[in-house]
Amino acid sequence: MTVARRGGSHRKLDTAAKRRMAFVAIAATGVAAAGATGAGAATVHQSSDQDGQGAGDISLAANTELLAQGAEGSAAGADVETAAAQILALPQTTQIENLSGQLSSALEFDAERAAADLLSRAPEVVKPAEGSYTSPFAMRWGTMHKGIDIANALGTPIVAAMAGTVIDAGPASGFGNWVRIKHDDGTITVYGHMSTIDVTVGQEVQAGQKIAGIGNEGFSTGPHVHFEVYPTEGNAVDPVPWLRERGVEV
Ligand SMILES: [Zn+2]
Repeated sequence: MTVARRGGSHRKLDTAAKRRMAFVAIAATGVAAAGATGAGAATVHQSSDQDGQGAGDISLAANTELLAQGAEGSAAGADVETAAAQILALPQTTQIENLSGQLSSALEFDAERAAADLLSRAPEVVKPAEGSYTSPFAMRWGTMHKGIDIANALGTPIVAAMAGTVIDAGPASGFGNWVRIKHDDGTITVYGHMSTIDVTVGQEVQAGQKIAGIGNEGFSTGPHVHFEVYPTEGNAVDPVPWLRERGVEV
């Protein structure tokens, strides 16, 4: 009777508790087979049926061992509760060791996942085009030149400096043509003067993906890409240190 109540109190717990309860049920069955009173065994067995799941976890080895213990219990006068207590101690200890190991594994996995997640979110940044750095982020001809110029032959690939979504792709005053990309961290990069455009608004692009070909469109004195960086809307920063902080030299 005590065993049945113990089993009932664990029924809402985890599979470890269910496994322990199943051990109790098997022990009682072993005792019954060895000649214990039928009433006690029947009560315990009913508890096991209510659970319905734990029994599947019992290994053949454990079953054999339990039956052996059940036989001992019979010799000592079929003390079901004592037999159950002995059997309970074994899986419980094992389970705590497993729990510790599982917790350790979980923490390790969590750390690995966090590192991978960080890596995946770290913006991979590339130079927007190969070529000669011809104009800095500075006052020029009485106005602010809010980007840098990289000159190269017509058609030289212009690539997305960082992964993001194309928010503009087409004609723009002064730029002739432009492409604007909004990145996951909110930064917007701008590319100007291209002769050809390879992307459309709404398109997702990866860092280094070709978005256009260098041109001489708009207000331009030779084939180059004009490149601007806006970490926040409307506030251009010098792309040279912005790139350098991300491991890219212009
Ligand atoms: Zn420029």
